[in-house]
Amino acid sequence: MTYRIFLLSGLFWLVSLPLAYAESTPISVRVGVFDNPPIIEVRPGSPPEGIAIDVLREVANQEGWEITYVNDSWDRLLSQLDRGEIDVLTGIAYTPERAEHYRFTQQSLIGNWGMVFRHAGAPIESLPDLKGMRVALMKGSIHSQALVELAKQFDAPFIPVYVDSYADVLKAIVERRADAGAVNRVYAALHAHQTDVVVTGIVFNPVFVHYAASLQASSALIASLDRHLTTLKADPNSVYYKSLRHWLEAAPEGRVPDWLPWAAAIVFSLLALTLSIVALLRYQVQRQTGELSRRADLLQTEVEQRERAEGHLNKLAYFDGLTQLPNREGFSLTLNKALSELDESERLAMLFIDVDRLKNVNDGLGHGAGDMLLQQVALRFQSVLRGQDHLSRFGGDEFVVIVPSVDTPEEAERVANRLLQSLVLPIPIGSTQIYTSASIGIALVPDDATTMETLIKHADTAMYQAKEQGGNRCRFYHTQQTARVVERLTLDTRLRQALEWGELLLHFQPIVDLNSQRMVGIEALLRWEDPSLGLVMPGAFIAAAEDTGLIVPLGEWVLEAGCAQLRAWQKQGRALHMTLAVNVSTRQFEGRRLVKSVEQALARTGLAAECLELEITENVMLIMNDDVRSSLDSLRKMGVRLALDDFGTGYSSLSYLKQLPFHSLKIDQSFVARIPGEAGDVQLVTTILALAKGLDLQVIAEGIETQAQYDFLRANGCEFGQGYLMSRPLPADQLLALLDRDAAGGRIIPASQDPHALT
Ligand code: C2E
Ligand code: MG
Ligand code: MG
Repeated sequence: MTYRIFLLSGLFWLVSLPLAYAESTPISVRVGVFDNPPIIEVRPGSPPEGIAIDVLREVANQEGWEITYVNDSWDRLLSQLDRGEIDVLTGIAYTPERAEHYRFTQQSLIGNWGMVFRHAGAPIESLPDLKGMRVALMKGSIHSQALVELAKQFDAPFIPVYVDSYADVLKAIVERRADAGAVNRVYAALHAHQTDVVVTGIVFNPVFVHYAASLQASSALIASLDRHLTTLKADPNSVYYKSLRHWLEAAPEGRVPDWLPWAAAIVFSLLALTLSIVALLRYQVQRQTGELSRRADLLQTEVEQRERAEGHLNKLAYFDGLTQLPNREGFSLTLNKALSELDESERLAMLFIDVDRLKNVNDGLGHGAGDMLLQQVALRFQSVLRGQDHLSRFGGDEFVVIVPSVDTPEEAERVANRLLQSLVLPIPIGSTQIYTSASIGIALVPDDATTMETLIKHADTAMYQAKEQGGNRCRFYHTQQTARVVERLTLDTRLRQALEWGELLLHFQPIVDLNSQRMVGIEALLRWEDPSLGLVMPGAFIAAAEDTGLIVPLGEWVLEAGCAQLRAWQKQGRALHMTLAVNVSTRQFEGRRLVKSVEQALARTGLAAECLELEITENVMLIMNDDVRSSLDSLRKMGVRLALDDFGTGYSSLSYLKQLPFHSLKIDQSFVARIPGEAGDVQLVTTILALAKGLDLQVIAEGIETQAQYDFLRANGCEFGQGYLMSRPLPADQLLALLDRDAAGGRIIPASQDPHALT
């Protein structure tokens, strides 16, 4: 009897009576498998194995399914699923297009992504280097198509060399029939260990692997799988996690002798250095050539336009080529006109908008990606504005909106909020999803200004205020803000003085074990007490300090002051089992200076290395050079703990995670803020948790503000957290109360009425 007959007898029966069901007649389920280790590993003569199979076997045991495996090529399995010849396909990556044809489990089995490897002689480190190269790809793989398209978008088309399996991709590289090749990261974790196969920095196309059935079949089978996956993923000791650990930590095949990687490393470092310089020069030449040809194109267009009509030429001068929006000149014309037509009783609002963190995208993904992001942002803004509102691109990452007639300031604020709201969903750039936000300053005529120049200046000032408060918000102009602008101009000088004059201080925020509600650590967060400005938050000055390099001495001060504080508490018998987390900037790695600063701070203060944790933002992956790599290794050898901060916000080379000596990762607060409400973020957070477990990394969730977030994270196996719900960052003397309460066995109990409450 096939399972279909049972399914017809009703979903309710299937869900409520699985045991009775199992005891009667086994249900036969035909499962399509193909070799895609370690998700599924198919070897001739033995039954399939792998993560998907372990989970399936567990579900089959509980549900009384009798499984028949159908092993075939990927293309043929898809047709068999269409014809109802198999019931379930494993290891299938979710895409919206496929979801129109197949019924996917809601729960994913594992997150996966594409990685590019090269042979040791190919000068390929980043996407532009693929141009003209021979790249081996597996036929029909979802990553193959994605890489072809991504390379086209980045103007780096390559010559695809199609092969039948991931094993053949690596073989083609080793035999030098291809310069590079793409495989998925779980496969790579197990098999890409040949001496001649070198990982590049190219990581792309994150996907989630699921089980799927045909849309025509009953949904009961997929529903059962989903139900079991949910239960398995909630239990850290379940078959699911055991399987992840087993398959992702399996010993790589064909290990090389111990001395060989060292010898190879020395040879390759020299080679890599030379190649990097060549690649850098070539990239710059390419960029400049690109820029020249872009300018030539523009000129050409301009000449043609001139020939056609004078009027059209004017248009070019007033519009921005990238976004097709009016440019600064176009904006000036409109604003002048609007001001001259304004009645005395009327108000006009100007919104000055700056896209947050565009520099990260430019630095990490290249200017091509930055440009695409700006185009998408312009479209999003346009889609939420009304006919009478006037959007222009002011330059760089700045936009302005003129709202010609507003009755109340709140009306302008509503427009600003709609603009912010339009950026809430991530923006797809190539195969990456980018979360972005904006800072908006609002100035009004006649309230704040009557001339164009002052209006722009004041809206810009208000925008900086929004940015200083952390971005992703709008602020109205207030007269006091002008004073702050003047201050900002001398920020660098003032910061240097602040360091010399002892105006810097640390606040401390508890890191809490979510299960026991006890403190396990403290994060040191930098503050600047300026006599005239008051307490200045790091968001207002860290970026500037990174630009000028002042972050290096500043970071050294933080390290020493933080270590000294924890040591002082320890001497008083406090905070004995806690670690101190200190944020470090990627610039501190230059010349391996960070290692020396840490050694010095520990030696001077007498703090044990095990008590110190360094938080490094995810963007460190982007500059993964020898200084960074060897510094991380040395720090780990010293016993210092390493955490990856703001995880999920940057361009994450997740593949590095397994290779690098991190102990923990911190889920960025922007994701925590949207759970448990937003399905996408819920999936992201649960996937990060599952991945971290598989890689044996601890997870700390940042920015826990509500009980619901706390409960969700704990229920999903997140061990540690920090956030306003437990405690805001506090000056050292105020943290004492919490430390003493903790020492007396008290717990930090989240209480919605009073975030600082303790029991
Ligand atoms: P971070 O390392 O991710 O630190 C967490 C930030 O989130 C802190 O902001 C903290 O006050 C804030 N936060 C904690 N709990 C909550 C919450 O429940 N809700 C919300 N909305 N926010 C919460 P802060 O102190 O303004 O620091 C901002 C960033 O500045 C830090 O982010 C870190 O990247 C950087 N930073 C701070 N101190 C240093 C430092 O000494 N050196 C370097 N290089 N960077 C630093
Ligand atoms: Mg941090
Ligand atoms: Mg963070």
